[in-house]
Amino acid sequence: MFDEIRNKVALNAYITVSKDQARVQAEKADPKRDARLTSVAIAVKDNISTAGIRTTCGSKLLEDYVPTYDAGVVSQIVDEGAIVVGKTNMDEFGMGSSTEFSAFGPTRNPYDESRVPGGSSGGSAAAVAAGIADVALGSDTGGSIRCPASFCGLVGLKPTYGLVSRFGLVAYGNSLEQIGPITKTVRETALLLDCITQKDPRDATSVGKGKAQYIEELDADIDGIRIGIPSDFFGPGTDGRVTKSVWKTIHALEEEGALVEETQVKSLKYSLPAYYIIAMSEASSNLARFDGLRYGLQDKKGARDWSSLFIRDRSDGFGSEVKRRIIMGTFALSAGYIDEFYLKAQRVRTIIRSEFEKLFKRFDALIGPTMPTLPFKVGEKTSDPLAMYMTDIDTVPANMAGLPAISVPCGSADSLPIGLQIMAPPFREDIIFKIGSMVEKISSWRSS
Ligand code: GLN
Repeated sequence: MFDEIRNKVALNAYITVSKDQARVQAEKADPKRDARLTSVAIAVKDNISTAGIRTTCGSKLLEDYVPTYDAGVVSQIVDEGAIVVGKTNMDEFGMGSSTEFSAFGPTRNPYDESRVPGGSSGGSAAAVAAGIADVALGSDTGGSIRCPASFCGLVGLKPTYGLVSRFGLVAYGNSLEQIGPITKTVRETALLLDCITQKDPRDATSVGKGKAQYIEELDADIDGIRIGIPSDFFGPGTDGRVTKSVWKTIHALEEEGALVEETQVKSLKYSLPAYYIIAMSEASSNLARFDGLRYGLQDKKGARDWSSLFIRDRSDGFGSEVKRRIIMGTFALSAGYIDEFYLKAQRVRTIIRSEFEKLFKRFDALIGPTMPTLPFKVGEKTSDPLAMYMTDIDTVPANMAGLPAISVPCGSADSLPIGLQIMAPPFREDIIFKIGSMVEKISSWRSS
């Protein structure tokens, strides 16, 4: 695997390749033990802590930060025999949808290197799509697993909030995010999820499912399953080729016995602005810990006092998108504006959550596109933050409501992959796998 990684260096999928640590893990593995991921080469997003392997979050500020402990999910996969081959590139602290906002340079889409792989877990997706990792872990605050999975022709799952431990995940928006798998097939995603759902007492929100068996839900019959298609997910800005491919797959599901009905998610139009207010507010508070004293960049030369050290290290260490979000998040939380922005966004969140609750009384699952467009060109949206934020329109609702959501490839246009999104009620990943494996069977896309 390490030779292949070297050959694909132009993709810039990895920030750190952990060859020595991988060798130690491989030597420790007991071939006789009944582990579920024996010798699986796994790429881990660089905001998930790995003991002894630097964890940069795609930021200059954490360029030399080496955690002393493993994240909960890392302990769980290593215990199952997996080998961590490296840490993958990402938008700084997870803030972006294209993996262009990394202090280590952009990652490229293996299907067309002039295009983005999606983000923020773009390095994880590019690594799997290019065959320089068997499977990968990403994190999803507002779409960062599903977007790159869609753009790289892969399967990516954001689990229900609380299903997977966030211990050791460097926080961006705690109330929204989950760690999850990015793989070539639905089966691999189910297997990897099975291995990371143990309850973790170090994460107060971890519910866990013990040794879950999602893998048994594959290849099940979907006869009579009720699927809602919210028309709002095909709103203005959705590429006609995406709409066509998703609908073609929906009709094929109907032929397999699914009961399909068009519906609406009226609060969808408020979801994106409310998401960005909440995510930026949480980020501004989470990122306050990077003060130049305890973690990462510590340029103490000539610092006269704490405040000048704080200003200098943060000014040098953070990229411009992260700074923009800290400023906007701090504003949204500030006295005099908190009611108008942060608290209003929280009220919108409650409305979104209850609208989904009602919908799931009528439907077992909801389906739409994962991304409104095909993978765009590197540089196309970097100077227009709003255009970049708009690409998350279909993925953020699942984070706002804490729902599980998967992206499964359903077709292609101009040799670029298109992803279909399936959402289900909380902790009903089984439904997602049932429908997801059928989508995989009936769609024309095969990841090479
Ligand atoms: N693109 C979204 C954002 O920038 C989502 C990122 C993520 O899920 N980490 O906030």
